Amino acid sequence: MWGLPRRSLRDQKLVVASHNPGKINEINELLGPYGVEAVSAGSLGLPEPEETGTTFVANAQLKSEAAAKGSGLVALADDSGLCVDVLDGDPGIYSARWAGPAKDFALAMRNVEEKMQASGAASPEQRRAHFVSVLSVAWPDGHVENFEGQVHGSLVWPPRGKRGFGYDPMFLPDGRSETFGEMDPDAKHEISHRAVAFRKLVDALF
Ligand code: IMP
Repeated sequence: MWGLPRRSLRDQKLVVASHNPGKINEINELLGPYGVEAVSAGSLGLPEPEETGTTFVANAQLKSEAAAKGSGLVALADDSGLCVDVLDGDPGIYSARWAGPAKDFALAMRNVEEKMQASGAASPEQRRAHFVSVLSVAWPDGHVENFEGQVHGSLVWPPRGKRGFGYDPMFLPDGRSETFGEMDPDAKHEISHRAVAFRKLVDALF
């Protein structure tokens, strides 16, 4: 039996369902070597859909599908966040929202810490957490493929390091002595949830 032909992103124009120029640049750097040209949803005047899903996959997919439908191009979207075991996976899909309108991640990290302390989480085993990244690729004909990456570790307090962004200064990946906030960015990009998801995407679609 012959399967359906494999879809490839090689030498395609790709719309990235994000209005964040940093994200577009990062994707151009990662996928440029494969002949991919990434343009932003913002530059095509596409509206940002509301993230109404209850999972990372649902939110990534609703963004990729909206961008593919609105542009007629293959679209890539991502959704990511930090999941804390003792908080039943919170802040999860609400990771950005916990920082409030001022995007204050010192506040968001304090909030995580207070909730963990209220749950009595003191030892590294009780302070387990992981980052999740879902990359969703949608084609204008309705076909969708999703790729998930995770990186596991524990949360430290107080936060350590000024590199990275978001919850990086609290996150100590398994087997390392530096938090994502202290680590050389290249070292983070080797092991991060986003890197794992991107490796899966590249293996499947190039
Ligand atoms: P998104 O842009 O809706 O995917 O929001 C994801 C949020 O999760 C970000 O604002 C960060 O708070 C958090 N997050 C995702 N990836 C990372 C990371 O690599 N380091 C630190 N925080 C992250």
